[in-house]
Amino acid sequence: MKKASPGLFTLVVAVLFYTTSVTAATLPRHQAIPGGVAVIPLGDLEQTKPAVTYLEKQVMVRANNRRWEAVVGIPLSAKAGIHRIKVDNRQREFSKEFRVVDKDYETTHITITNQRMVSPTKKDIERHYREKKQIVAAIHSWSEREHVDMAFITPVEGRFSSPFGLKRIYNNQDRIRRHTGLDIAAPVGTPILAPASGTVIRTGDYFFTGNTVFIDHGRGLVTMYCHLDKIDVEDGQHINQSQQLGEVGMTGRVSGPHLHWAVFLNQFKVDPKLFMSQLDN
Ligand SMILES: [Zn+2]
Repeated sequence: MKKASPGLFTLVVAVLFYTTSVTAATLPRHQAIPGGVAVIPLGDLEQTKPAVTYLEKQVMVRANNRRWEAVVGIPLSAKAGIHRIKVDNRQREFSKEFRVVDKDYETTHITITNQRMVSPTKKDIERHYREKKQIVAAIHSWSEREHVDMAFITPVEGRFSSPFGLKRIYNNQDRIRRHTGLDIAAPVGTPILAPASGTVIRTGDYFFTGNTVFIDHGRGLVTMYCHLDKIDVEDGQHINQSQQLGEVGMTGRVSGPHLHWAVFLNQFKVDPKLFMSQLDN
């Protein structure tokens, strides 16, 4: 039998590495950019599980590859450069550095004809501030879960119509607003499935986001589903991966039917794509 050439060997190793590289244990992907996620090794599992904070916020720590690691959500407003997490391993406190690199997110111009959505009335704003308290409370949710499922499936079958981080200019106004979720366009009534297991922490009908569902996946990982036509789950309900949450709609501030899907990690909005193993869109 002919011996495999070193070239073939390298190829086989490369293929094996590639196919195993995007498994559950490697999600989310490490991408230390504004709106990204930093996965930071902390030490071996024989040591006590450390407690970690970043910008004063409690950070997820998980056991992975026989070590502890911090899974850190980075805000979209983060500046490129050295950032620090604070680590408390129960014996001493120290800080650990990681580098955030900049990302050049795209810019787009959007025209909205519904004036009330562009310039909401005083009453709309008052409503929004009332609702914002509930929304913020949901985002701040923290539950200690034994296993946090971070390998997401795509919640809706459809085209990714607007990426996370996009800079949007509405009706040629000066202000740039950031798109802080991933939009998936689909007809009204298309099922929305839970990307991973969790608990429904809030459902509601809000001025900007319409019919909305929040899921707490554990340890500071929260996902949000907006503009639903119909909600099929209740507050407090445990849900499994692929379970139906509701249907795509166009409630709230929208120009067409789609799901606006947002992912929060230690309270910061991060790119949902970093949690997905299949990126076929
Ligand atoms: Zn959106």
